[in-house]
Amino acid sequence: MKDRRVVIVRDPEIPLDIGAAVAGRARWLRDEVERLDAELDGIDFPYVEVMPVCWVHSLRDGTGGPVPGRVTISEHSDRRLVVQVTMPALLEYDDDLLTGVLAHEYLHVVHMTIDIDRVAAAAPPGSPVRWGLQDAANNYDRSWRNYRRLDARWQVSPRNWLSDRLQRLADLVERPNPRVEAAIERIKQSWVTRGLPVEKINLVMTGSFNTRSLDTRILERAIRLREQTPR
Ligand SMILES: [Zn+2]
Repeated sequence: MKDRRVVIVRDPEIPLDIGAAVAGRARWLRDEVERLDAELDGIDFPYVEVMPVCWVHSLRDGTGGPVPGRVTISEHSDRRLVVQVTMPALLEYDDDLLTGVLAHEYLHVVHMTIDIDRVAAAAPPGSPVRWGLQDAANNYDRSWRNYRRLDARWQVSPRNWLSDRLQRLADLVERPNPRVEAAIERIKQSWVTRGLPVEKINLVMTGSFNTRSLDTRILERAIRLREQTPR
């Protein structure tokens, strides 16, 4: 079952040389996901999908560019929350940066798991759960600072949910970093200028959700943490 947790999506088809490079990096990714399992306090890292696309966002202050990953409700795997990483990021981000991306996205998965469970608990029994990121109209795309502020609101606290190592690595991708800038330059060279698929990312997520696929260990841990929070 473990090997199914990292899925390489090959539609649309990708050039052979890129496919070969992705296969090499995917081996590292599978190992890293297992290492993360051991580091997340009894919680398995979410399913990971590697997408053959370079997502970009363009913010109205002129910043923005390639986006390495996101969380979404997966079409491929039972409408569960998955972390998606782009192929060009898998190829051009170094190991630490990629683990930073995985840790960053994990904080979104935990936040969404808790929030979807809350919405589901309030919905009439048996009705499909509709859930979406609010604040969509809230000008998140006005500037990098706006975007980061809202993005952080859709995460749980790193201190409660990540090891010291993972907090440090997430931090590498959450603030301006020359290593990220260099990786983005390489993505432009090796992916974008080659004419491989580029899509504007849609950061506003709505959809119906399979609540049976929520990770109960995340929910149990959230309850324990709430119990520990001094009032
Ligand atoms: Zn984010």
